[in-house]
Amino acid sequence: MMFHWLADHRRKKILEKDFPAEWRLLLQKHVAHYHYLNNEERFYLEQLIQVFAKEKIFEGCNGLEVTDKIRVVISAEACMLLLGLPHDLYRNFHTIFIYPSTVVVPPARQSMFSTAPLIVQSQTAISGQAFKRGPVILVWDAVKKAARHPELGHNVVYHEFAHILDMLDGHANGVPPLHDKKAYASWAAVCSKEFNSLIKKSQMGKRTFLDPYGATNEAEFFAVATEYFFDKPLKMKKNLSALYDILAGFYNQDTAAREKNHRSK
Ligand SMILES: [Zn+2]
Repeated sequence: MMFHWLADHRRKKILEKDFPAEWRLLLQKHVAHYHYLNNEERFYLEQLIQVFAKEKIFEGCNGLEVTDKIRVVISAEACMLLLGLPHDLYRNFHTIFIYPSTVVVPPARQSMFSTAPLIVQSQTAISGQAFKRGPVILVWDAVKKAARHPELGHNVVYHEFAHILDMLDGHANGVPPLHDKKAYASWAAVCSKEFNSLIKKSQMGKRTFLDPYGATNEAEFFAVATEYFFDKPLKMKKNLSALYDILAGFYNQDTAAREKNHRSK
C-alpha cells in the first residue's frame, strides 16, 4: 500500500483530521468489502474516502437529501478501485449526481434532417452513467444494495468508476492507462479473446460467466469485468483466470486472495 500524499499539501491538510468514528460505523454496517480488508488497507481506504468525500460534489436529485451514509458508501466503493493505484486518478471529474431510484433516460431525438431510417429507441432504465469530465450519475437504491451484497456480482459504483479509469487517456475503449508499454499487448490479447467469446456465446443464447451486457462494447466489457473482479474474484479466477490476472495486474490488488481469506475467518 502506498502513501503518496506527501507532495499534495491540500490533501495532507484534509488528512490531518482523524477519520470520523461515525463514518467508520457506516463502513462497518453498509460496505461489505470493508470487512475484507486488512488493517493497513482499511487505514488507507479511510484516507482515500476522506479526500474523495471532501473534494467531490455530491448532488442529490429528485428530492434526495445527501446524507453522510450516502457520501461515505459511495466514496468507499469508488476508492476501493484505487487501493493499489495512484490516489489522484479521479482528478478529471468533480460532481456526482445521485438519484433515489432508477433513472429513465429519454431516447435520443432523431434529427429532422436525418436520412437514417427511423429507429424506435426504447427508453433505457439505468442505475448509473459516467462521462469523461463528469458528472458521474448513480442511483442510490442500486448503490446501497450492491455495497451490502457483493455476491450478486453487480456493483454500479465499481462499474462507473471503471469507466472513469478507462477514460483517463481520453477514450472509452476498455483500456485504462496501463503501468508499462509491454502490458498493452497482453491486455489486448486477453481482453479481446474473452470479449469475442462473450459476444459469440451471448448471441447463441448460451450462459456466460460475465454479464452479457459486457458484450455491448470494449468499454462495457472492462466495466463489467471490473465488477466481477471485485465482487466474485474467486469464481472469476477459476472461470476466467487470464482475465483475472490481467485485472489483478492493473488494479494491483489480489481480490481473490482477499475473498478467500475473508471466507476462512
Ligand atoms: Zn457502463
